Amino acid sequence: MRLSDATVKIIFDSRRQETLTAELFSENFSACASIPSGKSRSSFEAFVLAPHRAVEIFNKEVKSELLSKDFLFQEDFDNFLIKLDGTNNKSRLGGNLILSLSLAFARLKAKAEGLELFDYINKLYRGSLHYLPPSFIPKPIFNVINGGAHAKNKLEFQEFQIIPQHSSFKDGFEAARKFYKELGENLNKEFGKEEISLGDEGGYSTPFRSNDEAFQELKQISSKFFWRTGSFSFHLSCDAAANSFFIKSENKYKINEEKFSPEELYLYHEHLIHKYSLIALEDPFCENAFSDFSKINKQKGVYIIADDLTSTNPSRLKMAINSASADALIIKPNQIGSLSETLEVARLAHKSGWQLIVSHRSGETEDDFIADLAVGLSAWGIKAGAPATPERLSKYHRLLEIEKIISRL
Ligand code: PEP
Ligand code: MG
Repeated sequence: MRLSDATVKIIFDSRRQETLTAELFSENFSACASIPSGKSRSSFEAFVLAPHRAVEIFNKEVKSELLSKDFLFQEDFDNFLIKLDGTNNKSRLGGNLILSLSLAFARLKAKAEGLELFDYINKLYRGSLHYLPPSFIPKPIFNVINGGAHAKNKLEFQEFQIIPQHSSFKDGFEAARKFYKELGENLNKEFGKEEISLGDEGGYSTPFRSNDEAFQELKQISSKFFWRTGSFSFHLSCDAAANSFFIKSENKYKINEEKFSPEELYLYHEHLIHKYSLIALEDPFCENAFSDFSKINKQKGVYIIADDLTSTNPSRLKMAINSASADALIIKPNQIGSLSETLEVARLAHKSGWQLIVSHRSGETEDDFIADLAVGLSAWGIKAGAPATPERLSKYHRLLEIEKIISRL
């Protein structure tokens, strides 16, 4: 496919910070993609180039190269940019610039082939030999209480989540919206309106004194739903994002002014997993704690999810697979910086029997690419924040649309 034009511009994300949006044109089509940004980033993520510098380098060096070539496949396009960058962590062109072009190219190519984006991704992911049309929507993991790096409150854990158990996404989304509303009303009563705000991912930020209190609140509402409907509607889960309360020099974690050794943190997690029947726990330890992850991964009935540990990076994932550190991983395209490499990581995890959870970032745009990505990968779950605020809702709205499309197939 030949490109007739290409632009990269600056827009603002949900934290009102500058980010990139790319638009690619072929003879008959055009397609855009915008890039999110993380706040609790690991040390292994692709380099984020300052947006102004990225636009400059795109116009000076990249654009003319792209317009002079004919790219038959996604991999050709991505590999061309990776080679042009020439560094290990995409520090010359920026992971953000390369990814914006890579995702826009995927959308353009899907249009040119007359495919839905999730179908295009599915074909790339599986290869034509193993092609199976996507048949389900991944479980939505709604982050309804925010703490850690995403909110200004006392909670060390970053995300307190609910996972609806409904068989259709539409019903689960509806139930999550009711849960979120009821949670807001309860918190207003308990703390007063002026004490409640929203964190970066649209979940509530409140003066809870401990992680335990936040889970307690979710458990209470979940039980009320159970009594009202007669069926068990929600699982609870959590992203501890332990990197953000890890004190490297002491190999300790700080929770509620107390310092926890890795062994003590293990016991703390074990207590929460059992008390609140957590179905998944993300990043229980810091980004290099492969063996602490392995110990907790022996717990039955709970998925241990790697995010900062694996950073959507094949070599980090291989280390985690070799040490059996987790049984699920977060897929964030901007941690690695191209669609083809994201798919490579997903394939590797899937081959090892790991579950995939496609994730947004805390700084988001209204781009809904990850909804199609999650469906295209047949992921177990998708994290896209609270069922509120436009940049989170755009992903859920696209999933509603995809559910309708799939039901007609
Ligand atoms: C996360 O840690 O899973 C997350 C989405 O946070 P951020 O985007 O801030 O890295
Ligand atoms: Mg995380």
